[in-house]
Amino acid sequence: MNSATRRKRIALFGATGSIGKSTLDVIRRFPDRFELFAVSCHSNIGALEDIIDEFGPKYAIVTGEGNLKRTDLKVLRGREGLEEVAAHHEADIVLIATLGTIGIFPTLAGLRAGKRIALANKETLVAFGSVVVKELENSRGELIPVDSEHSALFQLLLGWKDDAETLILTASGGPLRKLSREEMERVQLADVLRHPTWNMGKKITVDSATLMNKGLEVVEAHWLFRFPPEKIEVVIHPQSIIHGLLRLRDGALVAHMSTPDMKVPIQYALTYPERLPSEVRSPDLPDLSSLTFESPDFDRFPLLKLAYEALKKGRGFPAVMNATNDIAVKAFLDGRIGFLDIENTVFTVVNEFEGTEEDLGALIEADLWARRKAREVVDSLV
Ligand code: MG
Repeated sequence: MNSATRRKRIALFGATGSIGKSTLDVIRRFPDRFELFAVSCHSNIGALEDIIDEFGPKYAIVTGEGNLKRTDLKVLRGREGLEEVAAHHEADIVLIATLGTIGIFPTLAGLRAGKRIALANKETLVAFGSVVVKELENSRGELIPVDSEHSALFQLLLGWKDDAETLILTASGGPLRKLSREEMERVQLADVLRHPTWNMGKKITVDSATLMNKGLEVVEAHWLFRFPPEKIEVVIHPQSIIHGLLRLRDGALVAHMSTPDMKVPIQYALTYPERLPSEVRSPDLPDLSSLTFESPDFDRFPLLKLAYEALKKGRGFPAVMNATNDIAVKAFLDGRIGFLDIENTVFTVVNEFEGTEEDLGALIEADLWARRKAREVVDSLV
């Protein structure tokens, strides 16, 4: 087989989560295009074993608790395992859908080895954007976004990069879009987990309800596309049909639309620059007669405002915001704190932070500091 027709070997990190499952659907659909070379999971060993039985990868990595006892493939552990496989000469595409900041390590290792990184983990760019961009500038590797909004903007910029003046990210507004602050005070976990349009993991669903998810995506967009914060807008669009828009120099506005299904951006990240048929149907225009848009309310959703401020400050503020949010959302999911305590925790810790250097070691240090502080704040609230 020559290289043009050889199947692309995919290392899928975070294989048992929501993005991981959708990625496996795409691989299943194109067995002559893709093969699963490696998989990782945090702790869901049972689900990982099912994937291994079906796809027969050569490597599996466990990053959390639990033991995978198999002899039919090579089993690695932790950060070092992710790095080894991301840089492996047989891997073509590394799709990173792990949770949390561990995603930075295979991202850097893969870029250094000239791989395509399909990035579904936004913490990597939020916390370590400057480090990733520096690595990318010196590398033969590519960074292709998997997040639906960033995939949309990436595709639009292929056509209009030189004329684009402003990026617009859409946000569904989440399940609490219409609630007052008083109502948010009383909101329960089940209300928050009822997302209107996207079916996603629990952490990101909570982040959609606080609009922190959109804040993280503003930071992510800045590092991916190198637009300054004031040239990145957010618009609430509850139907989630339009994923991203560009304002062009001449006043034109161009939009990318698709049915909200993560298989669309995942498939594109794997096949780019090609576009292959998809099982996801294009939206019917008569169904689009009621698309609506509204400006985000920064007073009811202060974490979105904070994300802009953190991005402008740099010096580790986005890393601290992200890490603190991570701990606070976990505490909310565990039923330990209330919904508005998430933002209280984030603001308390960010306000204590004094800034740091923009290098990997210092940013990791800031991330760990923020997690410790956030746990203290959470403990004081329960
Ligand atoms: Mg998104």
